[in-house]
Amino acid sequence: MSDSNRWIDESYQGVVRTGFRLKRRLFKAKSAFQTIEIVETSGHGKLLLIDGMTMVSERDEFVYHEMMAHVPLFLHPRPRRVLVIGGGDGGAVREVLRHKTVELCVLVEIDGQVVSASKKYIPQTAAALSSRRARVIIEDGVKFVRETSERFDVILVDSTEPFGPAKELFGASFYKDVRRILTEHGIVVSQAGSPFYELGTIKNLAKILKAVFPVSDAYLFTNLTYPGGLWAFAYASKGVHPVRHFNSGRVKSARLPLRWYNAEVHAGAFALPEFLRKAVGR
Ligand code: SAM
Repeated sequence: MSDSNRWIDESYQGVVRTGFRLKRRLFKAKSAFQTIEIVETSGHGKLLLIDGMTMVSERDEFVYHEMMAHVPLFLHPRPRRVLVIGGGDGGAVREVLRHKTVELCVLVEIDGQVVSASKKYIPQTAAALSSRRARVIIEDGVKFVRETSERFDVILVDSTEPFGPAKELFGASFYKDVRRILTEHGIVVSQAGSPFYELGTIKNLAKILKAVFPVSDAYLFTNLTYPGGLWAFAYASKGVHPVRHFNSGRVKSARLPLRWYNAEVHAGAFALPEFLRKAVGR
């Protein structure tokens, strides 16, 4: 078997490659926005790749999705309506719906083929999209937040990297619209990339959030499949501080069946290394 049949490589910024031992290729399609692939690997379960970049692996997706969802949802006083932009694999929606106060989780994903492929091949994350408390809208998230008259308590921007259809999800006018559709104690969390390889993106996003929101910060997690392992989320709110206003007792009494997030991990995630603390202007 040729090497390309035994390994699937993700090349990142042309400077680093990550190889996953391939078992079989399950799906590949070129949509109007991107190339979507789903493969089965020997060591990481199924992988969803977009334009050759690993988005989700069955083995470690719980880390990213728990950290994206439970930090804001355990901070918001009573999250009832949640909006996920991107996130077509469904993992973020699955974690959001663990919170019983959540009455509706709206997912706005630009590419319907990501949703259909995830539903078919990665039910571990996508099954949640069929929940009666979930509503899936196939639309550009930039357009949705600009035009909607709906309001949300928490918004999660679970997007690809800041190019192509995701580019405007990292811009000031998008976040001004996000602030407009957030309720009084509203919180937004966004996938912000690698502190090592995308510090510029994180810096720019921090500047925008500081200009648009009274509270902004960043927090970290680490996983198996993203280049370099260390990854950041951007955080912003209309007033809720991610550490000072965190009540660890809520996590303990909720007793959710989680595998990564807990009260200690929440607090620790906001302890930033010096180069990142400076980059986000803390
Ligand atoms: N969880 C993954 C991660 O860690 O990066 C990413 C989740 S998901 C696969 C990223 C999604 O963002 C893709 O399905 C892509 O189609 C979607 N997306 C990109 N730009 C978008 C936009 N402007 N509006 C809505 N969805 C968008």
